Amino acid sequence: MGIVAKGLSRVKPSATIAVSQKARELKGAGRDVIGLGAGEPDFDTPDNIKQAAVEAINRGETKYTDVPGILPLREAICAKFKRENGLDYEPSQVIATTGGKQVLYNAFAATLDPGDEVIIPAPYWVSYPDMVLLNGGEPVFVEATIENNFKITGEQLEAAITPKTKWFLFNSPSNPSGAAYSRDELKELTDVLMKYPDVWVLTDDMYEHLCYGDFEFVTPAQVEPGLYDRTLTMNGVSKAYAMTGWRLGYCAGPPELIKAMNLVQGQSTSGTCSITQWAGIEALNGPQDFIGERRKEFEARRDLVVSMLNQATGIDCPKPEGAFYVYPSCKDLLGKTTESGKVLETDEDFVTALLEQEGVAVVHGSAFGLGPNFRISYATSTEALTAACERIQKFCASLK
Ligand code: PLP
Repeated sequence: MGIVAKGLSRVKPSATIAVSQKARELKGAGRDVIGLGAGEPDFDTPDNIKQAAVEAINRGETKYTDVPGILPLREAICAKFKRENGLDYEPSQVIATTGGKQVLYNAFAATLDPGDEVIIPAPYWVSYPDMVLLNGGEPVFVEATIENNFKITGEQLEAAITPKTKWFLFNSPSNPSGAAYSRDELKELTDVLMKYPDVWVLTDDMYEHLCYGDFEFVTPAQVEPGLYDRTLTMNGVSKAYAMTGWRLGYCAGPPELIKAMNLVQGQSTSGTCSITQWAGIEALNGPQDFIGERRKEFEARRDLVVSMLNQATGIDCPKPEGAFYVYPSCKDLLGKTTESGKVLETDEDFVTALLEQEGVAVVHGSAFGLGPNFRISYATSTEALTAACERIQKFCASLK
């Protein structure tokens, strides 16, 4: 009998972390590798936010905090929801967490009974299914196909709902596809959800601030106020404020759910880092103009990458509305042979050969539940992106 719990055999390590690790290893061995696997902004945390943390340390804000976070932070989060999403929440309806990841984990730990189903559009962020499985639930996938711009329809959602459905997990803009739902597209889904009062909505709005052109970001409880009482709206500072390492996410929802999630958090991590919480207040209440400047930079990179990838033989790269990912298809290249004689049968073969032959690290689509595709994170310099896309073009042209 081993030490490891049986249930853990259902869970796999994160594929995106594995790709970053492999790229680092190759670099360490002296190879020239361009890593496009990581899902974090290459920008630094703004100085005013760092300064708020330094001041918090100097003031001695170094003790345990309330489990859901200090009151001024929860007030700043309420103000953010009101200002940016038109949603009214009291501080008692808000929890600050150790990264956005912990919102999802706590929500599932607090609500899933064995066999409960969670509907997840695919492609999905790698951690969703595994977090559901870790908490005894069953992920149910709905395909958001490339033909439908990586979005699901109301009809598809309705077909996936069963008496066991507990949550619909929604993520727009999406990691990994970058797809974002317009108000009308989201309304089609919320109209379906209104017919099923036992289904709750968990909306992961982490990429809210990364929408391009004149695209307007919307979130479910805003589009359909009738869902407010069964929606958990989550967000965080990791992507918009370039604060991935600080570990601060947050959520707001109905009191019964928030109370249960606080119970989980109180018996696991307690409140997130006190210093981070003060930095979070400055992030949410301080100047926001740098977000727009960075958004422009990301948009230019998206346009560059989409254009260069569509010039690569056999690659079809739709132009997504948001986030910092593109999710091109490599379907037309399957069955072809690499210079070293390897036949590409899957998207994983494609990304492995690309890394070995040209030193470009991307993540295979099958890790996100929809392929044959691959994910490129364009949260890196224009020079690195240009060089990487040239190498991808060269790789694709070399296939026979
Ligand atoms: N949700 C999505 C869609 C993400 O892409 C990520 C990070 O990659 C997270 C949540 C988690 O964010 P955090 O780093 O704040 O835990």
